Amino acid sequence: MTVSFADLNLSAPLIQALEKADYQTPTDVQIQAIPAALKGEDLLVSAQTGSGKTAGFLLPSLEKLLKRSEQPGKGPRVLVLTPTRELAQQVEKNAQVYGENMRWLRTVSLVGGTSFGHQTRMLNKPIDIIVATPGRLMDHMRQGRIDFSRLEVLILDEADRMLDMGFIEDIETIVAAVPKERQTLLFSATLDGVVGKLAMRLTNNPTRIEIERKEDGAKIEEQLLYCDDFRHKDRLLDHILRDANIDQCVIFTATKSYSEELSDRLYEKGYASACLHGDMPQNWRNRTLNDLRVGRIKILVATDVAARGIDVPTITHVINYDLPKQPEDYVHRIGRTGRAGRSGIAITFAEVKEYIKVQKIERYLNRKLPEAVIEGMEPTRRRPKPEFKDKRRSNGGGYKGKGSSAGQGRSGQPQGYSTERRSGSANRKGTSNAAGSSRPSFSGDKRRSSGKPSTQRRAASA
Ligand code: AMP
Repeated sequence: MTVSFADLNLSAPLIQALEKADYQTPTDVQIQAIPAALKGEDLLVSAQTGSGKTAGFLLPSLEKLLKRSEQPGKGPRVLVLTPTRELAQQVEKNAQVYGENMRWLRTVSLVGGTSFGHQTRMLNKPIDIIVATPGRLMDHMRQGRIDFSRLEVLILDEADRMLDMGFIEDIETIVAAVPKERQTLLFSATLDGVVGKLAMRLTNNPTRIEIERKEDGAKIEEQLLYCDDFRHKDRLLDHILRDANIDQCVIFTATKSYSEELSDRLYEKGYASACLHGDMPQNWRNRTLNDLRVGRIKILVATDVAARGIDVPTITHVINYDLPKQPEDYVHRIGRTGRAGRSGIAITFAEVKEYIKVQKIERYLNRKLPEAVIEGMEPTRRRPKPEFKDKRRSNGGGYKGKGSSAGQGRSGQPQGYSTERRSGSANRKGTSNAAGSSRPSFSGDKRRSSGKPSTQRRAASA
């Protein structure tokens, strides 16, 4: 039997807004979290991005806001903490979509990198929902601008990520400032380890909901391409970007400075590319995301932190130019494509010597990443036999790509490529870039434009 939003006991204004947003049926996390949260229970939910978790915590919170507060005052009734600015802004936007029929609803996102003016003005009048990153919220708290006396619901979104980013003390301070009599909803990719301990401290007799990691393979076709070194990566990237089926693409790099360098290089080659990373001023980050949304940017070169919260359905491809540092970031990264019911392609480059990192990701996913090779561009270096054992499947994945024997000792140069770097004459003109060619650098890495050979630049930026 299919469950509907009406079955979850949500009120008409919310159901109408969901209809308008074309949400036809609730997702698993919504089916489990919404009724429990409506009963007033504290929740510990392990759910991935893309699972519909945001509506899972916002809808029951908005339902509460449909009733008047019993407390006087103008402070927030719902507080959502998120690890990144983009995610905070995305969550606030969702609150406005779901709360569209609650005309009086006032929301604000308190994030760093933007001026205090608008945020302070919003806080001067009664506010219903604050979505904040911990740092900026603390700034406002220190200025005495936030009265938590009416707070009913505290939500921690992507709690594991907040801990990874070192926000533990800020979180503890914020929690100490909010009323004890509150509902706490904690969402995290994992509830193990440190985050599990924090979760137990912050919640009161919580209901635990574990949503199985979605097998993204159903919608997202993954490919693992082994390569010899970064020059080889660049050749693979050139080849892949010539694919006419790429509508929009996000390329992930390990460092901020390299995201700028790669974006600049692609831009010079004629691609409408831009970079997104945590050192960029927030207004620039917002403009970049907006350009991506409206299609002005075709290729976004991003770091992990900045890419959280990107929800653009027209992204057809994700390319992991560098492997993620944390295995769980792999899931977040590839989740930037295949959104809103569409399909997507996620291509991961791994240097042959990085096979251990690949195994870590595979262990996290409990499945093998499907290997592929591009004919004539196979790696030439040898890789030790992988040790991964798939607990569920003996053949590990069923990928029907060009074979899983990539890199098993083929020798000779890839056909059609010399070992020299390609010159600008290989530029592709198909996608035009919109702005002038000299663009500002935010990473503060003065070496990136030094004209050093890129081996050195790459090492310098890591
Ligand atoms: P989230 O995991 O909250 O980041 O949501 C992932 C995407 O799914 C967002 O684009 C949401 O707007 C969308 N979404 C969430 N719930 C539903 C639903 N029940 N039906 C359709 N789309 C949804």
